[in-house]
Amino acid sequence: MPDTNAKPKTVAILGAGPVGLAAAAHVLERGMEPIVLEAGPQVGHAIRQWAHVQLFSPWQYNVDKAAERLLVAAGWNSPAADDYPTGGELVAQYLEPLATRTPLKDRIRTSSRVTAVARKGFDKMKSNGRALEPFTVRYRNGKGVETLKADAVIDASGTWFSPNPAGADGLTAIGEEEMAARIAYGMPDVLGSARDRYAGKTVAVLGAGHSAVGTLVDLSRLKDEMPTTEVIWLLRGDKPEKAFGGGASDQLAARGALGTAFAALVASGKIRIESGFKVSHVGRDGARIHVATGGASCCRSVVVDELVVATGFRPDLSFLREVRLALDPAIEAPLALAPLIDPNLHSCGSVRPHGAHELAQPEPGFYIAGMKSYGRAPTFLMLTGYEQVRSIVAEIAGDREAAANVELVLPETGVCSGPAPGATDMAASGCCGGPAPEPASGCCVADVKAKAEGKKGCGCS
Ligand SMILES: Cc1cc2nc3c(=O)[nH]c(=O)nc-3n(C[C@H](O)[C@H](O)[C@H](O)COP(=O)(O)OP(=O)(O)OC[C@H]3O[C@@H](n4cnc5c(N)ncnc54)[C@H](O)[C@@H]3O)c2cc1C
Repeated sequence: MPDTNAKPKTVAILGAGPVGLAAAAHVLERGMEPIVLEAGPQVGHAIRQWAHVQLFSPWQYNVDKAAERLLVAAGWNSPAADDYPTGGELVAQYLEPLATRTPLKDRIRTSSRVTAVARKGFDKMKSNGRALEPFTVRYRNGKGVETLKADAVIDASGTWFSPNPAGADGLTAIGEEEMAARIAYGMPDVLGSARDRYAGKTVAVLGAGHSAVGTLVDLSRLKDEMPTTEVIWLLRGDKPEKAFGGGASDQLAARGALGTAFAALVASGKIRIESGFKVSHVGRDGARIHVATGGASCCRSVVVDELVVATGFRPDLSFLREVRLALDPAIEAPLALAPLIDPNLHSCGSVRPHGAHELAQPEPGFYIAGMKSYGRAPTFLMLTGYEQVRSIVAEIAGDREAAANVELVLPETGVCSGPAPGATDMAASGCCGGPAPEPASGCCVADVKAKAEGKKGCGCS
C-alpha cells in the first residue's frame, strides 16, 4: 500500500487525450500529484482532428472508471451506454468536462509540447544511482522552454501527429513533401469542413485500414451528392477483401457495419481500385498530382487532384532519446506487448489483459501507454488504455497486487483464424491469431513480365 508519510509523488503525464486524462484521474485517486502536459491548445487535441468520425465503440467502452468517478462527483451525467459518439462528442461530453469540472482542471497545462525527457543529472549511459533521481521533463509553451521534475512519467502522447507517409518502404515518397499542399493524412472531413476541397475532384485514398475505409465510404457519399467526384482506392496489397473486416461477426457492431458497407461499395464498382500499388513517387502534373509506383516515369500511376494518405501511424520517439527504452524492432511497441498485437500475427483485435508488467521499460518509473503503446500496430481501443493506466498507476503507487491484477475483455473483430505459422506461444496466447497484413510481393506487373521473358525490366521490383 502507498506510504502515506512521504510527499505525494508527482507523475508527469504526456498528452491530454482519453488515456492521459484517465491516467491523471487514477493518479489523483491514489493520492499522488498528476501534471498533464498537452501540446495542443485544448484537451483531446488529436481527437478534435477527427471530430467528424463516429466511433465504433459505444460510450460504455469509452469512459474510464476513475474518470467517471471524478465526473459523477462533479454532477456529470453519463451518456447512454449503447450510443455511439463522434470524436467531437467524445471531447465535448467527456474529455472537456473531465478537464474543466473536476479537480484535474488545475493539473493540466495545454499548449505545452514536451520536447525531451531525461533523468535529472544523468545521461542515458550513466547507471549508478540513476533510479534514485527524478525525471526532468522539458516542454515548450508560449513563454519558452520550461522544465518539470517528476517521480514517474507516463507517455500517453498518441500517434496521430506522426502518420506514416505514402512511400511503400515506410519513407516519404519522392516528391511527397513538395506536394504536401495536395495531400492529407488520416481522415479529412470530406463531407464537412473539407467538402469544397474534395467535391467534384478526382481523389485517391492510399491505405487499407479503418481510416482509409471510413474516408472512402464518405467520399462515395460525396460522389452521390456531386457525381463528378471520382474516387480511387490505392492499396499496396492485392487482396481488397482484407479491408472488409469481420462484418456481422465483429463484436463491435459499428466496426463490422463499416466493413460491410465498404464491401458493398467495392462490389458496386463506384470506386476504382488499384491494388498492388506501392507508391514511390509523387509529382506535379500540371495543376494536378501524379502518384506513381516504381520510377517516376515508370509503370503504373494515377493522376488526381487530391491524395489522402491513410497508411497508419507510428510513435514519435524523438523526445525520448535519453530514456532507456526496450521496444520491438518492427512494431515499436514495448517488447512484452508487441507479440500480442503484432498485425503480422494477429487480426482479431483482442489482446490479452496487460498492464505495468508488460509496459515496463528498462527506465524504472517510465511507461508508454495508450495509442502510443501500440507503436505502429492498429486496433488499439481506449478500453485497453484505461486498464493499462489503472495498472501502471497502481504500480507507481506501490500497490503491486492491484498492478498485477489486470482484467480486460475486448470485443473481437470477428476476423480470426488459427495462430500464424511460427507464431510464438506468447503470440498464440494473445488471441485467436491469424495474420492481418496483405502479403503483397513484387511491384509492377510489366516489370515482372519483362524479367520473366529475360528482358531488362524497369527496375521497380
Ligand atoms: C479515426 C479514429 C477512430 C478511432 N475510433 C476508436 C473507437 O471507436 N474506439 C476506440 O476505443 N478507439 C478508437 N480509436 C483509437 C484510439 O482509442 C484513439 O486514437 C484515442 O484517441 C487514443 O487515445 P490516447 O489518449 O492514447 O491518444 P490521443 O487521443 O492521440 O492523445 C494524445 C495527446 O497527446 C498530445 N501530444 C502529442 N505529442 C505531444 C507532446 N510532444 N507533448 C505533449 N502532448 C503531446 C496530442 O496533442 C494528443 O492530444 C480511433 C482512432 C482514430 C484515429
